[in-house]
Amino acid sequence: MKTLTVLYRGALETCNYACDYCPFAKRKETPDKKQQDIIGLTNFIEWITRHPHINFTIFFTPWGEALVFKRYQQALAKLCQLSNVSKVIIQTNLSTKLDFLTELDNQKLRFWCTYHPSETALVRFIKQLKILNQHQMIYSVGMVGKPELFDEIKQLRHALSPNDYLWINAYVEDNKAYQYSDEQIIFLTTIDPLFPLNKPYKTLNLPCTAGEQAITVDEFGDIRRCHFIKNVIGSIKQTGWQRILTSKPCTNHYCDCHIGYVFLESFNAKAIFANQALERIPLNQNPTT
Ligand code: SF4
Ligand code: SF4
Repeated sequence: MKTLTVLYRGALETCNYACDYCPFAKRKETPDKKQQDIIGLTNFIEWITRHPHINFTIFFTPWGEALVFKRYQQALAKLCQLSNVSKVIIQTNLSTKLDFLTELDNQKLRFWCTYHPSETALVRFIKQLKILNQHQMIYSVGMVGKPELFDEIKQLRHALSPNDYLWINAYVEDNKAYQYSDEQIIFLTTIDPLFPLNKPYKTLNLPCTAGEQAITVDEFGDIRRCHFIKNVIGSIKQTGWQRILTSKPCTNHYCDCHIGYVFLESFNAKAIFANQALERIPLNQNPTT
């Protein structure tokens, strides 16, 4: 059976949180955008349903926070029920009520949870993780490595079990990678031993499986190779869309995001994450142990 990873990002671009570095902070959903998002999500799920011969891994990478919306909770439930879907992952700030989890398949569902200390108390975030644990859900936890947040990073590290991996994303300020001091890098690497891997990679002409084993789909059904190369290469509305799935070198100079460079062949994500690279769970949960 053919396997394919699909990163879905619809029309949604709103968030209930207000992180000061984020363009989606506290943006309200307009009726038009909501309608577009509902149609896009419905068409996407139908498309997955229509391809029972493909084994899908689906990763929701919304602009903003999607899990607070019932339509996304229902989308997760529906996709998890499909026999041709082996895994469904979603990026979330974990702010929403988690009652809907009772109906969901903990073998298929995964969460990429980011703690935002300016927006929620640590105790509440940890309580949400405990609910995920009660439902035996699989997830990763992380934070943005903003220098002003180093104390909160330490606090989260202490609040987690020592064997739980905590990823740190390199901070980007005004579209530029923040220049950490050596001391700051040492601190962040103590927290996340894989932190040094979260950096820009020179990728021009290098082989990358995005476009062959993974694609992105948007609310119009347009297919792109990855989130970082803007050319539309096909559409889920076309028959024969699978013909676009070919191996080709990267055409961007750099790739600096986890959900991109894990597809780069030379990154060798399998050696670090086995088959849990997208949900960002390393082979041995805490790589320091
Ligand atoms: S939680 Fe995420 S999407 Fe929402 S404002 Fe913060 S960084 Fe942006
Ligand atoms: S290396 Fe990054 S930018 Fe290049 S094709 Fe792969 S995912 Fe896309």
